[in-house]
Parts: sequence; structure tokens; C-alpha cells
Amino acid sequence: MRRPVIAGNWKMFKTIAESVAFVNALKPKIRGANHCDIVVAPPYTALRAVADASGLDLAVAGQDVAWEKEGAFTGDVSAPMLRDAGCSHVIIGHSERRQLHGETDERVNLKIKAALAAGLLPIVCVGESLAERESNQTKEVLEKQFSKGLGGLTPQDFSRIIIAYEPVWAIGTGRTATPEIAAESHHFLRGLVVTKISGESAESVRILYGGSVKPDNIRGLMAQEDIDGALVGGASLSAESFAAIVGYNS
Ligand code: PEP
Repeated sequence: MRRPVIAGNWKMFKTIAESVAFVNALKPKIRGANHCDIVVAPPYTALRAVADASGLDLAVAGQDVAWEKEGAFTGDVSAPMLRDAGCSHVIIGHSERRQLHGETDERVNLKIKAALAAGLLPIVCVGESLAERESNQTKEVLEKQFSKGLGGLTPQDFSRIIIAYEPVWAIGTGRTATPEIAAESHHFLRGLVVTKISGESAESVRILYGGSVKPDNIRGLMAQEDIDGALVGGASLSAESFAAIVGYNS
């Protein structure tokens, strides 16, 4: 039985005060919700404050990580620094990093290894663009992102990886993949884990769906066997809608 994960990616939104207010508003709404892991990824500036306000109720994630521990890397934040700021998870390879900051699969791979070495759980994003989907390249793209981005990992490493399937055409567009479309890609990704890592890893790895997840579509998505949770952008910014997504099972 895979324990679901509902994760909120706040992107470049919320001051420290707004972040803490969110956590204080969310906590009473998710009291008793112990059917899933709940993770929020605030901007760097708010990590420590969110970790302190969250206590054990929420896990905290960075939105990116450097592949080196320290050094002359202006603007970067390392995995040990994320741990120090209270993070247990980190998002790696988000399509906005890939599109706007030149993130490559090779860098994703280095970042995953750095995160694992520091004891963080990487949430690794993969997904095809609209043009790639329309030209029937979805599987090829996922296979390449998986082989290069997640290459060289042992089954033991893999036991600490979370995958997020995020079709780029569904991110921030209001255009969600239907549960059936998402399920097909999730099934394909789980098959890649069987062939490239191990059958046992495939059984246990959590694969989240991301792309315009909202309170009104989460149930249909979570009903799919291979969908183990959600990575939520826009709808994770309000405590009401994020709590409603967390409560998909009620
Ligand atoms: C995301 O940022 O990972 C995301 C899925 O965004 P949204 O839910 O807004 O599409």
C-alpha cells in the first residue's frame, strides 16, 4: 500500500508573514487527516518560518536545490542548507526550472544525488510539452527524462524518491489531464521503474500527478490505481482549497 502525498508548490508567492498565516489557517482544517503525507514548498525566504509553524503537521520542501554542498554559486541554496532550514523534501526538475533556467536532465541527476546525500526526499518532476504530446512523443520524452534524470540510482536510493508526472501543457493552464490520460503516463512511468530499477521499487514508488489539480478534480485523479497523490501549484496557495484537496477522501 503506497501512502499518498499531497504537496503544494507555492512558486514565487507569499511573504514570511503570509506563509505563517497560511500554515495557521491550514492546520485546523487538516486536523485528523492522517491518510496522506502533506508537504508544502514555500519560497526560500519562508522555509524556516513555515517549518517552525508547521511542527509535525506538515513537511516542508525546497523548490530547487544546488548540486554542490557549498562554494561560489551565487543565488544557489544547497541540500544541507535546505535541511538546516527545516526541509525534509525538495522539488527537482520542475518544468519552470527546465524552461526558464535551462535545467537539464544531467543537472536533475546531480541534484537528486545531492539531495539524497543530505537526507532529503526528492520530488522529481517529469512531463511532456504540448507539442511533444501532439506529435506522439510523450513516452519517448518520459523515457529520456527518466533514464538521464533518474539514472544511476540504486533500489535503495529509489526507496526515497517521489516522482511527479506534470504534463507541461496542464501546469497553470486550467487544462488538467483527464484521469485516464494521467493514469496512462503514470502506468508507463511505473513500468520504467520495473525495467530500470526493480519490481519492488515500482511497487513502492509514489507517483504524483501535477497540472491544474483543484478540489473538484482531485477525486477522479486519486481514484486511478497508479496515481499516488498530487503536486499542486495555484490551488495550494489558499488554505481552503489546499485543505479541500488534502481531504479528497472525505
Ligand atoms: C506546479 O506548479 O507544479 C503545478 C502543477 O501548478 P498548477 O497546479 O497551478 O498547474
